[in-house]
Amino acid sequence: MSLEKRLGLRMLPFGANYLDWSDMTELQEAIDNRILFRYQTETESAASRLERVVAQRLGAGHVLAVHNCTEALRLALISTRPAVGDLVYIPALTFVAVAGAVLSCGLIPVPVDVDDRLMLDTTLIPAGAQRVILAHMEGSVADVPASVPYVIEDTAQALGATFPDGRHAGTVGYAGTFSFHHAKVLTSGEGGLLTTNDERTWETMRSYHDHGSIRIPGRYPIWGDDAFYGENFVTSEGTAAVQLQQFRHLDEILAGLARHYAMAAAEAPERPDLTVLPRREGEVKLSVRISFESPELRDRAVKAVTEAGISSWTLDKYDLPAHPVLSGRRSLYAEGFPWNLADPGTSAPISRDGFRTTRDRISRILCLPMSPELSEADQREQATYLGTVLRKL
Ligand SMILES: *Cc1c(COP(=O)(O)O)cnc(C)c1O
Repeated sequence: MSLEKRLGLRMLPFGANYLDWSDMTELQEAIDNRILFRYQTETESAASRLERVVAQRLGAGHVLAVHNCTEALRLALISTRPAVGDLVYIPALTFVAVAGAVLSCGLIPVPVDVDDRLMLDTTLIPAGAQRVILAHMEGSVADVPASVPYVIEDTAQALGATFPDGRHAGTVGYAGTFSFHHAKVLTSGEGGLLTTNDERTWETMRSYHDHGSIRIPGRYPIWGDDAFYGENFVTSEGTAAVQLQQFRHLDEILAGLARHYAMAAAEAPERPDLTVLPRREGEVKLSVRISFESPELRDRAVKAVTEAGISSWTLDKYDLPAHPVLSGRRSLYAEGFPWNLADPGTSAPISRDGFRTTRDRISRILCLPMSPELSEADQREQATYLGTVLRKL
């Protein structure tokens, strides 16, 4: 078998490698009980247990399970009781789901330049800003601006990462959102979690995610005089059961990522035309990010690693100001809702130089994925192989 096949040098899922029938006790239980709806019983559901386990593991006040991170973002935004057309500042570099979540709440996403860590440059956020979504991309942790009342930490790509003070990413701002999509740290195919430290906020979120109701487990929901409309974001017991299994492997996965990252970063050649982006202590090492001197050299590196059978990705797909949804202000609504509500004076994207520097930074980055599930020996062999390929560029 070729080296690349044997070492699994491919576009990797992380948690999916740890799915294992011998370890699916919660799923087994849910099926044995024939209950997949979380509010079916008065006893603790798999979903409630998951929320309790995650709150403990992350040091979060309250946790709510939903279908995916996009819903979690929507729920976090709606719970702030915004006015339609309000602005939400978002990083110029992130997945389009962030913009979609904002727009589908009737709010206007305003992309902001990223800094040299590729995080939203918080010095550019206008005074008086009410809402910001930070994205902790590929395990890096963005700093939370103190002056903004509603900071939503999109932690879809950074489960388990910590700030320099030891607090977990997703537990410091107004709310944190997490994803269990196939490509994230842990997976249930699709899945999402929302965290908040404020009990009243959690109650509002819980109610909205269950048709705006008050819910006593095991009973039909009720609506009081102060009820509001909601939607249905209630997770399934099957999904929660898989997530509980996945959480058992979180520490092992984080350790495997950190070990592989240390090896790969050490094997990267010392050349003046490339730099391994530094990672702060506590960040999750999903990829080694290399910044090249020029986009041309980066593209040559993409070609070289691809030919060597090593998978990689670039951040070009995350250039939000260039995304058709934002650049073309697209919407399915006849009047172009909610773009039609955007105040032209305040809703323009925020950049020092028309996103020239942001785009230049993005165009020089190559990301090489880590494989936490490999043995130490295989990780070392992979890291050495990678170093050899990069030296030959
Ligand atoms: C994956 C991802 C999302 C969306 O998560 P889903 O669970 O697929 O809805 C949002 N933000 C970021 C940064 C992501 O990587």
